[in-house]
Amino acid sequence: MNFKLRLLLYLFIALLFILQIRFEIFYRREFRPRTPAEIEASAGDLSTLDEKTRRAFSPGGMFEPIDFEKLNGAAWLKSHYEPGQTFDEYAASYSNKDEKRNKIYILPVGVITGETHLIIDKMKGYCEAFFSMPCEVMKPSALKARSRVNAHTGKLQLLSGDLIKAMKPLLPPDAYAMIAITMTDLYPASAWNFVFGQASLTGRVGVYSLARYDPEFFGRKRGNDYEKIFLERSLKVLTHETGHMFYIYHCVFYKCLMNGSNSLAETDMAPLFLCPSCLRKFHHAVKFDPAVRYKTMIEFLIKNGLNERADWLKKRIEYISGK
Ligand SMILES: [Zn+2]
Ligand SMILES: [Zn+2]
Repeated sequence: MNFKLRLLLYLFIALLFILQIRFEIFYRREFRPRTPAEIEASAGDLSTLDEKTRRAFSPGGMFEPIDFEKLNGAAWLKSHYEPGQTFDEYAASYSNKDEKRNKIYILPVGVITGETHLIIDKMKGYCEAFFSMPCEVMKPSALKARSRVNAHTGKLQLLSGDLIKAMKPLLPPDAYAMIAITMTDLYPASAWNFVFGQASLTGRVGVYSLARYDPEFFGRKRGNDYEKIFLERSLKVLTHETGHMFYIYHCVFYKCLMNGSNSLAETDMAPLFLCPSCLRKFHHAVKFDPAVRYKTMIEFLIKNGLNERADWLKKRIEYISGK
């Protein structure tokens, strides 16, 4: 083949390659709402399971599928491509299990007031119930990190990437994951205004700030139901983010704890619990009796004034037991 012909051939191959990449980027950016049949099938084949387990992973009319058309323009799925993840896809790919790593650690970071201590203690209690594994609060730590004062809020912020880097060597050998909690605001890079949190899934560490969950951060008065709202937000961030540590992707099937969120308002609207598909994924990673796990969660929720949430779980137990 002469030189010109070969050059043309190479150019043609390069063009095909570029077109394919462009097509993929374009294609992948389009979120595709799932059909009712896909939503139903998302928890995998339940026919081989015993009756109670099958019910635990069936919606039973208690979970609402995501209605993409009804989401408002600011919703996460309207601006983020999500690949979705069925139970079958999860079961075929989950490989982060390590028998020696069976504990979740919470590391308080920064200034810890009495109020923060209290909330972290509650997070530990819920963590154990939700993840069905022991959870330990570590001694508060002042991790080395760059900081700045945010131009909009006038509040101190810590560079989240520095915190992640400082946490990695502190990971205990039996830690499935280590979650740092701070009341100081975070930023991921100088160009960003702020970030709620950041994680390294392979490093099994994540850091999350509760600062913006408190209206006082924005100079607003705390409402009468402040404590309840703050607690629920804190429990959601802990369980959602640790859920990612189990390699559970953002849920695209039901209204679920694992839905992506663009704002505090969207987080507040998201359920506190896993949908049947995400629950089965978590069950694949950590074996537990679904009704026993719900009972432990109910005890915590009642003790901490989240009775409505507890009532929903009670109904769920009734459904699982076939009552
Ligand atoms: Zn997430
Ligand atoms: Zn889900």
